[in-house]
Amino acid sequence: MTDSAKTVCPYCGVGCGLEALPPAQPGKAVHRDSQGNPVWQIRGDRTHPSSMGKVCVKGATVTESLEKDRLKYPMMRKSLDDEFRRVSWDQALETIVNRIQIVHKNQGADALCMYGSGQFQTEDYYIAQKLFKGHLGTNNFDANSRLCMSSAVSGYIQSFGSDGPPCCYEDLELTDCAFLVGTNTAECHPIVFNRLRQHHKKNRQVKMIVVDPRRTQTAEAADLHLAINPGTDIDLFNGIAHLLMLWGYTNMFFIDECTKGFSDYAEVICHYPPELVSRKCGIRIDHLEQAARYWGEAQNVLSLWSMGINQSSEGTAKVRTLINLHLMTGDIGKPGAGPFSLTGQPNAMGGREAGGLSHILPGYRVVNNPQHRAEIEQFWDLPPGSIQPQRGRTAWEMIEGLETSEVGLLWIAATNPAVSMPDIKRTQAALRRSPFTVYQDAYYPTETAAYAHILLPAAQWSEKAGTMTNSERIVTLAPKFRDPPGEARADWEIFAEVGRRLGFEKGFKFKNSAQVYEEFARITTGRPCDCSGLSHERLRTYGPLQWPYPDHWPYLEAGEETEQNRTNKRLYTDFRFNTPDGRARFAAYHSRGLAEPPDEAYPLVLTTGRLYGHWHTQTRTGRIEKITKMHPLPFIEIHPQDAQKLGIQENNLVEVRSRRGMARFPAKITKAIAPKTVFVPMHWGALWASDAEANALTHPEACPSSLQPELKACAVQLKLV
Ligand code: SF4
Repeated sequence: MTDSAKTVCPYCGVGCGLEALPPAQPGKAVHRDSQGNPVWQIRGDRTHPSSMGKVCVKGATVTESLEKDRLKYPMMRKSLDDEFRRVSWDQALETIVNRIQIVHKNQGADALCMYGSGQFQTEDYYIAQKLFKGHLGTNNFDANSRLCMSSAVSGYIQSFGSDGPPCCYEDLELTDCAFLVGTNTAECHPIVFNRLRQHHKKNRQVKMIVVDPRRTQTAEAADLHLAINPGTDIDLFNGIAHLLMLWGYTNMFFIDECTKGFSDYAEVICHYPPELVSRKCGIRIDHLEQAARYWGEAQNVLSLWSMGINQSSEGTAKVRTLINLHLMTGDIGKPGAGPFSLTGQPNAMGGREAGGLSHILPGYRVVNNPQHRAEIEQFWDLPPGSIQPQRGRTAWEMIEGLETSEVGLLWIAATNPAVSMPDIKRTQAALRRSPFTVYQDAYYPTETAAYAHILLPAAQWSEKAGTMTNSERIVTLAPKFRDPPGEARADWEIFAEVGRRLGFEKGFKFKNSAQVYEEFARITTGRPCDCSGLSHERLRTYGPLQWPYPDHWPYLEAGEETEQNRTNKRLYTDFRFNTPDGRARFAAYHSRGLAEPPDEAYPLVLTTGRLYGHWHTQTRTGRIEKITKMHPLPFIEIHPQDAQKLGIQENNLVEVRSRRGMARFPAKITKAIAPKTVFVPMHWGALWASDAEANALTHPEACPSSLQPELKACAVQLKLV
């Protein structure tokens, strides 16, 4: 009998440790899914430092999705109107290689695009970068993380000189003021929230502030809920800063010694008196003052955020104005304090380390830095100038490139853009125009498979060995403990095989994923995300480890557990940042508000979000009965005042229109949503519910720095069907 396997959850960026047990255990009944099929059983791994045995419904049921609707063999068709037919790997890969060569010759390297995923393991990400940015000579690799946390990346880079969340989960239990903004942590990062909630419950002096237009489960637990008008986060942050300065809560020693740009910032926040901020944000002055007092009186303030801040046309400015508050009071680099972005995907962090966005390179390097390009070219043994100096296409720019026929080949892997992209009807029309789309995924059917010319079956979590990094920079080895179905292969193996067939044998000679990780780890040497002391072997021996983890620390010689092997490391504990002068940067921003504010024709703001049980576009969770029973249908939350005006009652079918499209949802009338704002979950694509696609309504206007689209807000009108 196969032994149990310690691994990491493949859903969200909390990165909980899981222990998978074979379906048959001595003396116990065989573990089965709801259809009676034997499946591996999951329990929380008590030894994992991030989760200590805790697990939510998604992690607990993940194995129930592993056998259903799997894509087992390569498939091909000439046009989207034809049926797929099964082909051999050889045929599929030769077709792809030929097509890459033709497009490269006729249109140039920049007509080739890959759209990848935070579901990749770091090894998959790394080989894709080496193939596209290195050997093919185009930076056109972007990942669905562009839609998730790229504003956090650009905010950290601009404020601190480098990416990297500076906090760790232990801070959840050491803070005396938690400031949660744009995050429904209770539902979307439940195990992180449980740790904070326990600490908050046990210690009455600990304050929790939640900023969200919805009264979510997270907001229910708060001491203070600020239901601000959508798009007014910067007004709020500047308003809190105004009061902190007025009341003398600023840490002038920290500001003078460790930061730059305070005087410009101080000039901006003068313009945010409480009366103005209260009016713009739609909150009471005493609530604003209470928030500033909680922040100012606390010894250690921890802020947490996710999509509500990042998915905005001023996402980077929001991240930076939030970081300003930490710089103003010196709440960073010490236990219980810091600005902590929670990543959505399980390995968005590993993607950042491996260079998995169109403007970055492995090891927290950026494509527009000549020295960074030269370092990577040398490491990959490529001639100088092989890596392009300008960023590649972002996810949305790939869609635009299909519209203008500048994209000749699109390779999509482990993501479902036909549901998750903004302005989904426009996205689907562009995908239909694609001259050649390769779609590599574990599941079939999916909404995106309908737009593919070639389907490649991917081995998924549990069927391949690789690493994932969670939000607190802990790297966990996810081992292979089951065989992939049919002829499915690991993503990195497919990319490497294409690289070899294109004639780049030397660059892709890896025998296994441990060798890939070994090369990746070396490329991070001396960088802020230094993982050079990590390897599959070390992670297998010691369990999950947190970076930075350089290879020159004494433990390598000692070969035993040491202080350096400890987790709960923080960044910037010496208050020196990764900027050239070591100082963090204040940012002076006024708010521009929503890209598409409500008006007479479209008088309500639609906001989108996630539910506790479902994951993204339901590729896995839509196939798990326990979860589909928990969340059977999409819905729209409407405040009673708005419902009354429109004559809408509970469960009435409501037609929602924006300037781009229409969707229909049953009404849920609730005071949990602010008046003039409505909420819909984003999980339903055409496969699960017709006409209930949230992204039929959203728009692609993006933050000018992070290029992350504003999926969180658009103007809509409602009518009873
Ligand atoms: Fe998985 Fe996230 Fe749930 Fe943890 S909180 S079990 S990582 S989905």
